[in-house]
Amino acid sequence: MKAVVLAGVLIIYGALALSQEPEYNRIFFENSPMAKSFFYTKTVYRSPSWIRNVAGKLPVSDSIFFTPPNALQLNYISGAQGTWSANIQFKDIRGQDNFSEAVNLTFHLYVNSETTVDELPAVGLSLGKNAPVYSSLKQFVKDYRVRSWIRIIIPLRKIGINLTGTEQISVVSFRQNDTGRKEHNLFIDQVEVVNNVHPAQIKSVPEIVTAKGYEKHVDITWEPQPDPAIRYIKIYRSSDNTNFYPVGIQSPFISRYADFTDTTGKEFYYKISLLSTDYTETSLSNSVSAATRSMNDGELLDMVQEAHFRYYWEGAEKNSGLALENIHGRRNMIATGASGFGIMTLLVGAERKLITREQLVQRFDKITTFLERAEKFHGAFSHFIDGATGKVEPFFGPRDNGADLVETSFLAQGLLAAKQFLNPSTAAEKIIIDRIDKIWRAIEWNWFRKDEKSKFLFWHWSPNQGWMMNHKLIGWNETLITYILAICSPTHAVPASFYYSGWASRSEEAQKYRAGWGQTKDGSMYTNGKIYYGVPLKVGVSNGGPLFFVHYSFLGLDPHRFTDAYTNYFENNVNISKINYRYCVENPKQNIGYGPDAWGLTASDGLWSYQADEPVQRQDHGKITPTGALASFPYTPAESMNALKNYYRNYGKFAWGEYGFYDAFNLNENWRSEIFMGLNQGPIAVMIENYRSGLIWNLFMKNPEIQEGLKKIAAEKP
Ligand code: CA
Repeated sequence: MKAVVLAGVLIIYGALALSQEPEYNRIFFENSPMAKSFFYTKTVYRSPSWIRNVAGKLPVSDSIFFTPPNALQLNYISGAQGTWSANIQFKDIRGQDNFSEAVNLTFHLYVNSETTVDELPAVGLSLGKNAPVYSSLKQFVKDYRVRSWIRIIIPLRKIGINLTGTEQISVVSFRQNDTGRKEHNLFIDQVEVVNNVHPAQIKSVPEIVTAKGYEKHVDITWEPQPDPAIRYIKIYRSSDNTNFYPVGIQSPFISRYADFTDTTGKEFYYKISLLSTDYTETSLSNSVSAATRSMNDGELLDMVQEAHFRYYWEGAEKNSGLALENIHGRRNMIATGASGFGIMTLLVGAERKLITREQLVQRFDKITTFLERAEKFHGAFSHFIDGATGKVEPFFGPRDNGADLVETSFLAQGLLAAKQFLNPSTAAEKIIIDRIDKIWRAIEWNWFRKDEKSKFLFWHWSPNQGWMMNHKLIGWNETLITYILAICSPTHAVPASFYYSGWASRSEEAQKYRAGWGQTKDGSMYTNGKIYYGVPLKVGVSNGGPLFFVHYSFLGLDPHRFTDAYTNYFENNVNISKINYRYCVENPKQNIGYGPDAWGLTASDGLWSYQADEPVQRQDHGKITPTGALASFPYTPAESMNALKNYYRNYGKFAWGEYGFYDAFNLNENWRSEIFMGLNQGPIAVMIENYRSGLIWNLFMKNPEIQEGLKKIAAEKP
């Protein structure tokens, strides 16, 4: 339901506070994450004309490309009385919303047939929902030649496109522009709208610093490349240290590349070069090698934890050391809840010796210094914070310009775990403990009752719009931790009776609320009592809901040690995970890939928007979301391990990246998300650690305020 809220308001954000953000080009095609076809394309033809397609999508070439590893293929025949066309649709990527001024459409073209310049297609651009305006391509081709990459630059003003206000180019299309009935074979790559196309001079020299082999991939790293003339780092691989083949590109904002070789027990050699903003390439770097090796279960868990830890370590917002909403997205915007998950993941990193205790303490010093000064509303943080100023960032729209109590509780959960890890007898650590305590004690949980008569907590409060969002927190969902912390607060607690009057309320209003989002009366009383796929469910709306309900609140709160009048929450979380697992094994919608080693419906990035998938048909969109099964490790260790191996070994080529698993993929649609999500990376590392050692559970539960508060809840009755 949170994710439904997310999706509903996602598109409202304005460009007001974007001045600090670096600019993105509007990219229509760079590389397809999936082989064979590119999801955001559409082909149409009428005989005798024809265009090659894969189920109506443009084919992807991995043999001829400009930027590795692939390009789009335009293989067509143009006949009189016939037509063909191919569209590439722009897809908004979360947080990539600060674009450079649109001045030129540019792409690279490779003609692999005896095609004359007159036989090239027309190229069209659509503004918003308007039909495309076409121009013949040949007028923009200088020095035409076949079997060589040439760059096409189309100044938008030359084809009569004047962008005003918020209008953006939404579609780039190609269509028939001759009638010769010959077959033509073209390749296009790096289709994008850019500001300038001027030559750029790169001053730095490429150099690989490290290479490390895992079971089926090699990670290489280089020093950060801040030179604005650099567009990409280009990666080359070799099996013999002589013949190097380009395998990928990386944004200069990441100093690492995960090369999925799909081969175990083999040595690989790497070189890199730098591509400038005008695509001039530097010479190649030194050669560095590493070998892949087989890994046992423990080593695979180490590998996954390490990669997911990196999201919060290397991938953090620079000024605060806190977590970004997603990568690649906004680079200066902190996501508060994801930062709480990040703090717990940093603890995992220290426990697993990925960083030293000193490094962890330094980072916590930076984090708590920032949080102490960041803008707060009755002690609570906003959902998003600007990294440069510490001020609220209303990313979800102008209404979201104040406190977000749920995000604050995710952050506080992380801070309380960190507090118990730190040693009060060390001066540097004592300072951080005191700062955490101050932040925690300042959160006015009881303010979020709204008024003295209220029996519920409210999600938001805005300094100029008050309670307008008016979202009461009613379980079962991810907001259990919000009630727990509000009851446990040593300074601004709500009564323990709120557990049953608010979170587990049986009021008519609460019943209506649950039945509304679950679209069933199952679980509308908070308790459920039904059996799904042979698994009994004591608490849960519908048949349990998306799996993040059993993750976000239970990263710190140990469900073994939390029992209310209705159930023990370890038992209940295990059952919710099992219902989700069995739904995916049964797979009533016959989604490709679902089964005993690909399961776990939860909230994640989808084809067109973020969606909270659940194990019911109307909320099953065919997405495979790695955090679903992998953050359930403590509940379903065998089923989670099978999923981990399947995702890495069989789908790693597209599903694995620099920060571990990408957010989601959909095999029905041959699609993979372009992002890593701050809310989904951390729970994987933390819950694997809770499964392995109980570390984060033990730290969080050690807080005396938590122990006291849980005792108070235990003394309450419904
Ligand atoms: Ca490419």
